Amino acid sequence: MQELELFKDRLSSPHKVVITTHHKPDADALGSSLGMANYLKKKGHDVTVITPSDYPQFLSWMKGNDQVLNFENPEHREKAIEMVMNADTIFCLDFSCLKRLHELASFVTKSKAFIVNIDHHQDPKDFADFRYWSTKAAATCELVYELIVALGDQYYIDKDIADCLYAGIMTDTGGFRHPNTTKNVHLITAELIELGADNTRISRLIYDTNSVNRLKFIGFAITRRLTILEDLKTAYFSIGKKDLKKYQSQTGDTEGLVNYALSLDGIKIAALFTEREDGVKISFRSTEEIAVNKFAADYFDGGGHKNASGGRSSLPLKETTEKFEKLIKENQKTLFNQLEPIHEKN
Ligand code: 5GP
Ligand code: MN
Repeated sequence: MQELELFKDRLSSPHKVVITTHHKPDADALGSSLGMANYLKKKGHDVTVITPSDYPQFLSWMKGNDQVLNFENPEHREKAIEMVMNADTIFCLDFSCLKRLHELASFVTKSKAFIVNIDHHQDPKDFADFRYWSTKAAATCELVYELIVALGDQYYIDKDIADCLYAGIMTDTGGFRHPNTTKNVHLITAELIELGADNTRISRLIYDTNSVNRLKFIGFAITRRLTILEDLKTAYFSIGKKDLKKYQSQTGDTEGLVNYALSLDGIKIAALFTEREDGVKISFRSTEEIAVNKFAADYFDGGGHKNASGGRSSLPLKETTEKFEKLIKENQKTLFNQLEPIHEKN
């Protein structure tokens, strides 16, 4: 409580703020960043949002998107470094470990700024001066909303801020379907709609705006790149660089693909392996009873939430999926032990 008062004091006079989030931001990462940015701007601060990479085009409607600096864009890099090094306060949103900033991490570490971490991932690393953190929150956007309210500033939340925060809550709950969709989520969402969030438009922009290439790519992935290991209740997609090129894949085009594997009857663990320039990026998903975050942390340099985690591999794509199959077999007992006997999904 005392910490919150000190934080409030800190925000009471205008200063230089940088807001950043994890590499390849999703709607919660960008929504919490721009929601917070729009709020802090209204309070009179000088705010810059810096993302460690680009992000899907279907998020570009958020207010403030046109001023975001992308650290991987050579034209933005110098300015981004200057802003980080001169910042009074740096907000780190929707990640719990600085390595998720990739190259930007070393500058945030070097900066003398006061570091704020707002996040809902497990096992936060100790890098912040002020932390607003709960794994019970479905989304970082939920925490940003709560923090603004706790600071007594709810009346600052306008339609633009509400839209940003709504987007993150909607996507991190899988469209209000995952077990993290609590009563609190619905209460906050109701408030955001009351404050002007356009729920129908946001869901159309995020879920129902496909390019022809993306739709064809999904069809191709399901028919040609899906492996089903029925005995292991596991299914995974393995997408090569050539596949991405063939369908002129854009950032965000693989978003949600892993859920098709998890939607299969009898499947309890799903994964998506995507071959990128810097190695293989992995997404893991599971049904309620199975924790994939520990598996991701133990074997694939990753982590995340119980039912939605990620990781990476520096092995070639084929070796990575072979390693995955082997590890699923070896860890069957641990992964499925809460499940005896295994029948179908409930
Ligand atoms: P996605 O599969 O959508 O990229 O990520 C699913 C979840 O796992 C997200 O909450 C994300 O923050 C987390 N996650 C993804 N990649 C990594 C990673 O490399 N390390 C950690 N610790 N978490 C990750
Ligand atoms: Mn999140």
